[in-house]
Amino acid sequence: MTATNLAAHWMPFTANKGFKEKPRMLSAAKGMYWTTDDQRQVLDMTAGLWCCNAGHAHPHIADAIAHQAKTLDYAPSFGFGHALSFELSERLANLAPGNLNKVFYTNSGSESVETALKMALAYHYAKGNTGKQMFIGREKGYHGVNFGGISVGGLTNNHKAFGQWLPTDRLSHTQDLTLNAFSRGLPLHGGIEKANELEKLIQRHDASRIAAVIIEPITGAGGVLPPPVGYLKRIREICDQHDILLIFDEVITGFGRTGNVFASQTFDVIPDIMTTAKGLTNGAAPMGAVLAGDHIYDVIVEQGGPGVEFFHGYTYSAHPLACAAAMATLDVYEQENLYQRGAAEGEIAQYFERGLHSLKGLPGVIDIRNYSFIAAVEFEPLVGKPGATGSLIQTSAWEQGMMLRSLGDAIAMSPPLIMEKEHVDQTIGILERSIKQHFA
Ligand code: PLP
Repeated sequence: MTATNLAAHWMPFTANKGFKEKPRMLSAAKGMYWTTDDQRQVLDMTAGLWCCNAGHAHPHIADAIAHQAKTLDYAPSFGFGHALSFELSERLANLAPGNLNKVFYTNSGSESVETALKMALAYHYAKGNTGKQMFIGREKGYHGVNFGGISVGGLTNNHKAFGQWLPTDRLSHTQDLTLNAFSRGLPLHGGIEKANELEKLIQRHDASRIAAVIIEPITGAGGVLPPPVGYLKRIREICDQHDILLIFDEVITGFGRTGNVFASQTFDVIPDIMTTAKGLTNGAAPMGAVLAGDHIYDVIVEQGGPGVEFFHGYTYSAHPLACAAAMATLDVYEQENLYQRGAAEGEIAQYFERGLHSLKGLPGVIDIRNYSFIAAVEFEPLVGKPGATGSLIQTSAWEQGMMLRSLGDAIAMSPPLIMEKEHVDQTIGILERSIKQHFA
């Protein structure tokens, strides 16, 4: 199907006027490739928007959704249940680390973030610590687009037109190119010093006012910034010392991207609350899930008064089609060994890393960083066009048949975990030509 009229559609996070002059349209997808409206094959090096970890249009997931649509299309989640959602929760709780045993469903990463922030407030409120209403986020952090998420997020463009809604302060971001340029895996330097900034923020605001710290284990949309060695553990320690909850936003790192189900397992740091979405259904149905520690649930629910304990939820929480998609997705991840395939020391991840770092030395390339199946290449800003290089490289790659994510002066990649060596070779070839096109 080809769109004939583009006028009525207001596109998210898109330069609408530019798009409508030169639309880029996708009409089908299978495995590692999209088909465009003009019948070109485009290699997907982004897993959609970091979500199609098992590749596109997987038949097991498609069949599960179709079957569910004919069996139980909808069930209200307020006061009623359906078996599949309870089964899915049990499965997720078993996959999650530590005591993250309670699952609350949403429809997106943004809603998962709002839910997690509200859980943190409700937890402290229930304990009588009503002053704990502030959050600590991080520069370059991305936590979706709802009011809580933009408040705690650290990407200026995302909140400058809308204001600051929740009381928030921010850690600085963890990337330091003087210490850690061209890092492979976790950057080696500066982790503890960066994490200790949290102590300074606590001194400034007082622990009695801070509800939670929310960070992505690997900053994604802010430019792919893996945490320097020791950083996450030190953040956890400081939170524990001050009765501050730690929320990991695993919306992109969840479901195999770092070689375990969750990055929390890869980095051996367990948060109090974890947000997920995207890979949960392989992108085939909108769904998010918040995994809360037993201690959070106990305080809010078990020790809560009679009646509704947590006034929060969505019409489509635990939607049957999304639950079916998630159950089938988890089957695929397990049956096709995709968690193991995402491991940083795995054969394909290593091949990808070597390929990417072979681009070091090309003109304009000032950093290459990666952790397993998530990577970024950063460029010198082009004269007169700061922040535009990523988009130029993305356009060149698109024209040559590859999808990249543009992030300011960087491009990001988060390929499906089914990627093979031939896809890596194709990627490196297209990247090299695109870079030379702009920096020769
Ligand atoms: N949190 C993180 C870390 C994300 O990367 C994203 C989206 O990219 C979100 C939250 C928001 O998810 P959604 O777009 O599904 O609302």
